[in-house]
Amino acid sequence: MKICCVVGARPQFVKAAALSRAVQSRNDTIFFVHTGQHYDANMSEIFFEEMEIPRPDHQMQVGGLSQGAMTGRMMEQLERVFLDENPDCVTVFGDTNSTLAGALTATKMHIPVAHIEAGLRSYNKRMPEEINRVLTDHCSDLLFVPTNASKENLMREGIDEKKIFVVGDIMVDALYYYKEKALKTSKILEKLGVKEKQYVLATVHRAESTEDSKKLRVIFESLIEISKSIKVIIPLHPRTRAALKATNLLDICEKHLEIISPVGYFDMLVLEQGASVIMTDSGGIQKEAYLFQVPCITMRNETEWRELVDKKYNTLVSPVDDNIVRAYHDCSYPKNWDLSIYGEGNTSQKILDVLLL
Ligand code: UDP
Repeated sequence: MKICCVVGARPQFVKAAALSRAVQSRNDTIFFVHTGQHYDANMSEIFFEEMEIPRPDHQMQVGGLSQGAMTGRMMEQLERVFLDENPDCVTVFGDTNSTLAGALTATKMHIPVAHIEAGLRSYNKRMPEEINRVLTDHCSDLLFVPTNASKENLMREGIDEKKIFVVGDIMVDALYYYKEKALKTSKILEKLGVKEKQYVLATVHRAESTEDSKKLRVIFESLIEISKSIKVIIPLHPRTRAALKATNLLDICEKHLEIISPVGYFDMLVLEQGASVIMTDSGGIQKEAYLFQVPCITMRNETEWRELVDKKYNTLVSPVDDNIVRAYHDCSYPKNWDLSIYGEGNTSQKILDVLLL
């Protein structure tokens, strides 16, 4: 069995690390295509190094292009790779342009597509991620979903139940596997001169946050307000840095917030575990906060990870007026955390059991 794994963006490297580890224990081949969607060293290279992900067999360069141009170029180049390599299956992760390009190209070439982290929905079609995940789900042959709720989302859209497998979340595998090593090797807290529970960790990167200048302003003014009572550390995504610069907010943010460059996965795990509260618009970080039992405030109008909100591990707050600041001061969380919502950390093995049948 020859499996092609298409990756391109930061969260996909984390998921691919978990899958590639699981494949190593079997006699099958996995090869990687990196689309180049994320290309900065600290958004890409560092993940391959730290997590010992096999080097991509094919490296493309499509970063920095518009949505359409990027997806089109990826498809053109992926088609050539699939023709040369003739994989038995193409695996895609999550909801980025690389996910959609991989799935569309493969399905048109009659190569079976496996979608890992299928069935998630925000029901907000203005999000590029929502378009990517819906279209990818509808051209996939095997849909690996984290929960029964995501399975139901797919069945409501008419997807055949036989193609859907509830396997838990692959990011749990990565976190459980790399956590100890991260805690042993990362020096990020010393480097930043902070102690556990004495800072808030924030991340902001979604187009819906960065492309709407009003929302961007509310989010960052709220973080600045919160920074009056506690240090706020923010590993700043390049897209967000550009948006803050364009809206003349970067200087004031740099004055009040501990803005750092995006960090590698190990430093991120340590920062997450040590945070008193995590404030984010990221999907993956909502789950990691829950796994570390750190209160999380999601600064968006909706979330795909509804169960965390329903069980009160996560507070969802629209970035409007002083909502975010109030949510920060009001946040209270359950004492007993049920950590099994997304499985036990053996999602990759469950996926391979299906894929390699
Ligand atoms: N992450 C990281 N360094 C950072 C920010 C995030 O290693 O500076 C990791 C984070 O721990 C998680 C993943 O990247 O595993 C989440 O990626 P992102 O927030 O970019 O995307 P999303 O999950 O929203 O798709």
